[in-house]
Amino acid sequence: MNAFDLYDFLKSLEDFFKLRATSKNLHLIFERPQGLIRYIKADDKKLRQVLINLLVNAIKFTDEGSVTVRVSHQNQDTSDILKFEVEDTGLGIAPEDCEGLFEAFAQTETGLNASEGSGLGLAIAQQFVTLMGGEITVRSCLNQGSTFSFTIPVQRTEDKPNPAIASIMDRVIGLAPKQALYRILVVEDRESNRLLLVELLSVLGFSVRAANNGSEAIAIWQEWNPDLILMDMRMPVVNGYEATRQIRSQPGGRDTVIIALTASAFEEQRQDIMKVGCNDLLRKPFQRGELLSKLSQYLGVEYIYNTQPEMSSNWNYSQETDNI
Ligand code: ADP
Repeated sequence: MNAFDLYDFLKSLEDFFKLRATSKNLHLIFERPQGLIRYIKADDKKLRQVLINLLVNAIKFTDEGSVTVRVSHQNQDTSDILKFEVEDTGLGIAPEDCEGLFEAFAQTETGLNASEGSGLGLAIAQQFVTLMGGEITVRSCLNQGSTFSFTIPVQRTEDKPNPAIASIMDRVIGLAPKQALYRILVVEDRESNRLLLVELLSVLGFSVRAANNGSEAIAIWQEWNPDLILMDMRMPVVNGYEATRQIRSQPGGRDTVIIALTASAFEEQRQDIMKVGCNDLLRKPFQRGELLSKLSQYLGVEYIYNTQPEMSSNWNYSQETDNI
């Protein structure tokens, strides 16, 4: 059980699925009533996994229209009950298939035709909902759509919880196919940090080059024209401020996104960094997910994610190396 912000949680799911939905021309709608409880204690990992499984299906089995996630809550004596609905306007499920749908390896004809999928998504969703003390049901009409609903008890907390460290970006396992080859220049004088970043980005499928200081960065920028630069601000020879200023003053120098890397927590520094022409900054130590989310924000990069439950995740990025 974790205390978390339900609104942030829903927002990150929405971000996670937005591109998938848009690429199929589907409307993705998240609805919540005014006054929905915000800070709750629940098993956020299981809850996220259930919603991911339902949303993956809803998008997969819908060719036009919308996918809607509706969240509401009811007060009970000692706890609150949260209700989630994932509704789609897709292919639907025949009444005879609705029975036993939550059993492992149950796949309807539509599911089998879809040729991807394991038939485990709903079984896992049901198991997790049960473990959280709730129930999941489905209503569906062939060729009109399906609605999966579940309720879970949660506890309300008054305090604002710490932001969840594990974001959906932690599930990124690579770049989605059919995109431009993004060129990223890593500028960092500390070798261990530089190597960590270069490796992390190359493994995902970015084209990466590295520089030890600002003057090398300017030279590589001129010759290679990267889409984005991760620029450490404190460096010998030519520091990140000077390098950014020089790049920005050259023809075409405004076309490259520059994200400053800084260990300083001071707000004044942010202003200096933006003033020399950086688009944004990342404060060290930062998480892998924060970096990936910036890359998607500025370059429109699309990722592929591990949608399997966390227990079978093959991503073993340790906490220590996660911080850069
Ligand atoms: P799969 O990996 O095949 O998607 P699931 O357990 O997640 O396995 O789903 C089982 C089957 O239920 C799917 O193959 C599909 O036939 C059907 N199904 C699940 N969700 C939907 C949906 N939203 N619309 C239509 N059919 C669905």
